[in-house]
Amino acid sequence: MYRIGFGFDAHRFSEGRHLVLGGVEIPFEHGLSGHSDADVLTHAICDALLGALGEGDIGTRFPDTDPRYKGASSLLFLSEILKLVSREGYEIENIDSVIVCEKPKIAPHVPAIKSTLSQITGLSGKALGLKATTTDRMGFTGRGEGVASYAVALIRKRSA
Ligand code: MG
Repeated sequence: MYRIGFGFDAHRFSEGRHLVLGGVEIPFEHGLSGHSDADVLTHAICDALLGALGEGDIGTRFPDTDPRYKGASSLLFLSEILKLVSREGYEIENIDSVIVCEKPKIAPHVPAIKSTLSQITGLSGKALGLKATTTDRMGFTGRGEGVASYAVALIRKRSA
């Protein structure tokens, strides 16, 4: 039995923050604002997995009013959700994702991000899709106001 989930997230650029995408720090003049490390890609992946499980969303599970999550690495959220996937008796078939921003250029960082996410999810390269695009200078990402991410996850019930 298969279930699919979809996740979306966006965060605004902000001064004095590090830019973290998929657990990897990307050299750039701005980071993203948020309660945790504002890792927009990891948040979208978390929501895709929670959606597939029918278990709500990352904001409910890890509220931004909880001081424990202030500045937290979002990989922590992802590893908690991966444990939940396993406890519910599922394995991840594959994850696919997109990072949307005008700047910085994401392509040079894709191998490092994939490698980090691959280690934490246990998914091999081909089961872990990561693409990057701009919006041709349209909209909030096009104006360089922030970064958005989309992700889908397919999970499969482990056979008994
Ligand atoms: Mg978020």
